[in-house]
Amino acid sequence: MELIKVTIYTTRPGTEAVTASLFQLSIYETEIEDPFDLETIRNYKDGPIFDYLDVDLLKKDDEEVKVYVYFKNDDEGRRKVQEVKLHMMSLKSKEMEGCFDFKVDLGRLYVKDEIIRSEDYENNWKKNFHPVRIIENLVVKPTWEDYEEKDGELVMEIDPEMAFGTGSHETTRLSMKLLSDVDIKDKTVLDIGTGSGILSIGAALLGAKKVYGIDIDEEVVRVARGNAELNNLSHIIEISRRDFKEGFNIKADIIVANLMADLVVDLCKIIKDQGEDEPPVILSGIIKEKEKEVKDALTNMGYSILKTEREGEWTALIVKP
Ligand code: SAM
Repeated sequence: MELIKVTIYTTRPGTEAVTASLFQLSIYETEIEDPFDLETIRNYKDGPIFDYLDVDLLKKDDEEVKVYVYFKNDDEGRRKVQEVKLHMMSLKSKEMEGCFDFKVDLGRLYVKDEIIRSEDYENNWKKNFHPVRIIENLVVKPTWEDYEEKDGELVMEIDPEMAFGTGSHETTRLSMKLLSDVDIKDKTVLDIGTGSGILSIGAALLGAKKVYGIDIDEEVVRVARGNAELNNLSHIIEISRRDFKEGFNIKADIIVANLMADLVVDLCKIIKDQGEDEPPVILSGIIKEKEKEVKDALTNMGYSILKTEREGEWTALIVKP
């Protein structure tokens, strides 16, 4: 199969603006090559684990950050590439006109596209996905790497293919952190926008008795099911293809949704409209600039904001109708 590899050239401070803006286009799966991160990795002491490092990357000395996005090489993929190009042009002109209330250099925002073979994509990105500790006692390990489990640790295996959810993104870690803060033992959890299934698997490992994961994307559903099976959790986790906007009649004690600012507001409206016993909801994927807007919208709908957690440019909330 052929893929279109899109490279967006930005700066380190611009990376968040670029990925957040891709989120607005419902493009969640991005890969970031940041030469500055290599410094961090080289000097690493605590925190996420990097068992393996590609030494070729250490030799790179260009200072631009590259954000990669991949699409299938078909009509829809080519349409998405044009959408990304237009979006980046608009972001650049907004920066030049001083439209943002924050001052960051977003860099060139040049967008390059090229056709690659899917095998090249897989081999390339696999180099950048390593075991990562997403909360204190929970490690996410790619299927192709070894990891020696330590006492008291929970380890999940993930092969995300092209789905979002490796544990390396702040929005996933924030969702998992909030899931571990609420008591989900023996509870039913609904994971909306399950991606690779990472949060569903995390919830099951933390003791949930039943987990429903839904996603709008058929391919992603196949990947999430595969990951649930890989972790021997198919008896607890049920994954299905659904668009939450069409409603969902799944009774849960807690809902988790890592989507994006506008979608989490839509979701909360649907939860309210569905009525009955409305469970607490963990909402993630909210870019910091939209935190107030989201909170105001939810408060106006009658939600209470029980908890706010932030990492980098991202905010996650626990809310209750
Ligand atoms: N839960 C994973 C995580 O936390 O890493 C993946 C989150 S990813 C940011 C968002 C996911 O939501 C994508 O897999 C996307 O396909 C899905 N999604 C987007 N819109 C949706 C909708 N209307 N209904 C269901 N899923 C949706």
